[in-house]
Amino acid sequence: MKRKLNVNRVLIALIILVVLIVLIVYLLTPNKKDNLMIDLTNKTVDEAKEFASSHNLNLEIKEKYSPALKDTIIEQNIEVDKEINEGDNLVIYVSLGINYEELKVDESGDVPIMMYHGIHNITDNKYTGGNVDVDGYQRTKEAFEKDLEFYYKSGYRMIRLEDYVNGIIDVEAGLSPIIITFDDGLENNIKVTGLDEDGNIIIDPNCAIGVLESFKKKYPDFNVTATFFVNGGLFQQSEYNEKILNWLVDNGYDIGNHSYSHADFTSISKEQAVQEIGSVYNLLDKYIPSKYVNIVALPFGSPYDKDHDNFNSILKGSYNGKEYQTIATLRVGWEAESSPFSNDFDKTFLKRIRAYDNNGVEFDIEMNFKILENNRYISDGDKNTITVPKDKENEISNSYKLPIKTY
Ligand SMILES: [Zn+2]
Repeated sequence: MKRKLNVNRVLIALIILVVLIVLIVYLLTPNKKDNLMIDLTNKTVDEAKEFASSHNLNLEIKEKYSPALKDTIIEQNIEVDKEINEGDNLVIYVSLGINYEELKVDESGDVPIMMYHGIHNITDNKYTGGNVDVDGYQRTKEAFEKDLEFYYKSGYRMIRLEDYVNGIIDVEAGLSPIIITFDDGLENNIKVTGLDEDGNIIIDPNCAIGVLESFKKKYPDFNVTATFFVNGGLFQQSEYNEKILNWLVDNGYDIGNHSYSHADFTSISKEQAVQEIGSVYNLLDKYIPSKYVNIVALPFGSPYDKDHDNFNSILKGSYNGKEYQTIATLRVGWEAESSPFSNDFDKTFLKRIRAYDNNGVEFDIEMNFKILENNRYISDGDKNTITVPKDKENEISNSYKLPIKTY
């Protein structure tokens, strides 16, 4: 009996010892979860401060207009579950809420679709402003940089043309959308200077894409993107066709159709019209199947009139056994286009602004952006609702089936 008791005591002591060791080891081992970023969205700023100080992170608090409740955290720069280390910079964005009157939110307002062609790395242009030809279709690199700086500082943020056509406008509250387009597939749109050791294309920093990529780094919230409209010669560097097209779509740019031979649609047959459009779609299908946009920038703006017989062949047809359908066309424009939510919106015949200088007259950039000050699209920060001042409610059509908010 006595001996049995001793065995029991030893057993109990052993169990207590094991439990203690396990507990000590558990407490001394740094919890792996402690080094991982947590989700701060919807938490309070005090909670974020506590988290940052307990992990020795440098906390930066930024504010942003947002449909989310005022003072709630809406974004963080470090992804959830990512490893964090002492001294890391943690940036959080806190919602300022939205004051529609103060921000002048108006999603019935106009949207500029800018039309560019070539970007030239020269300084001795002899035409007005940054124009390189008499019509201002060609621009200097310096002028293009100034344009982009001006759009950004004036509160414009880029959106994809295809998103606009589909009624998706994802822009921060109080800011306005802008769309950048390039026609003609000129070499200076994306100039390849060679391949790196991994076989990736090396892009000239002085071409259009070079400039756009530098703005992507300079202003990450600019949401840099553009749509390039090509002819049969693509970007005039046939040895790199496949690499260029794939690089563009992989890096957030879009490719559209500008007809095979830059045809004048008022002076060709229906069969030729179908061939002009269908062959470019087929060409894009070969290199970037289902990754291009079914949008046509009308060459010369032709046939100028939607009632022209050839216009239907631009919208749909069948070429070499393949059917095609075009969701939108772009004209050679002069002024801003309507909101996609406006009664006036017709995506099959969109106006553009010619991006050129003319001393503030003849619908140049300066003149157009002055006009836009009176009626520009100003976002509510929520792509899933349409917000307009009460007196503009009847200017809105609900073809995109989004809820409409008025104030
Ligand atoms: Zn053209």
